[in-house]
Amino acid sequence: MNIISKRDAALLKEKFGENCQDKLRLLENGTPLAYILGEWYFYGLTFRLNSDCLIPRPDTEHIVEKAIEMLPKGGVFADLCTGSGCIAISVLKNRPDLRAYAADISENALSAVKENAAALGIGTGRLSDGARLETVKTDLLKAELSEFLPKVDGILCNPPYIKTDVLKTLETVKNEPVTALDGGEDGLTFYRRLIPRSAGILKPDGVLIYEIGYDQAADVSRIALENSLSCRIFRDYGGNDRVALMKKENA
Ligand code: GLN
Repeated sequence: MNIISKRDAALLKEKFGENCQDKLRLLENGTPLAYILGEWYFYGLTFRLNSDCLIPRPDTEHIVEKAIEMLPKGGVFADLCTGSGCIAISVLKNRPDLRAYAADISENALSAVKENAAALGIGTGRLSDGARLETVKTDLLKAELSEFLPKVDGILCNPPYIKTDVLKTLETVKNEPVTALDGGEDGLTFYRRLIPRSAGILKPDGVLIYEIGYDQAADVSRIALENSLSCRIFRDYGGNDRVALMKKENA
């Protein structure tokens, strides 16, 4: 049983009233506060979450910052493994000129994306019909990106990147969706698969902005190089390597 902080107990009481013993018990038993509240905070916005969505992390805000800074005016980007949609929607909120595709394997996650977009005033539907955000349900390890995406100006992605063995030992993520965290035996499955395919649908001066694990900078840089991409690594608030920014070598 976990010890509950006064802050977390106060947050639950504020949302569910004084008689929320059932919610307090969930917290004591290890359910993350974000899932009990059904929402969490990211890039100054509030996002609805369900059990198929990874809880948004402050470190992931760096992808949003880079995208806001780098995507060309009027551009279209894709957010792969979108989860709650927090990356795509935060970028769209801050760059009214952009439009985006948000892809995930989970229908449940995509319903959170649509809910979040609606709550934050971003129209969903087909981009060809004038919507700003189009959701795509697909298994990104199987599908070819070109089957469902046109050429884009940017691809943002926070893929599952924790090694399968390590994941089993981590207390911090044990109540979050395994499909959003498990990066395979060496943690690199999604990078090996998605970096070459992302490069294939990128416009000549487009950018790939991927989140990486703190110890994956060398491996991801190597994968980028093998695919004729340049790669720069940026650190997170804690000083760990966290973002890989990749471009076509001649761009
Ligand atoms: N940042 C998460 C963690 O280390 C992992 C997220 C991911 O696999 N994309 O807990």
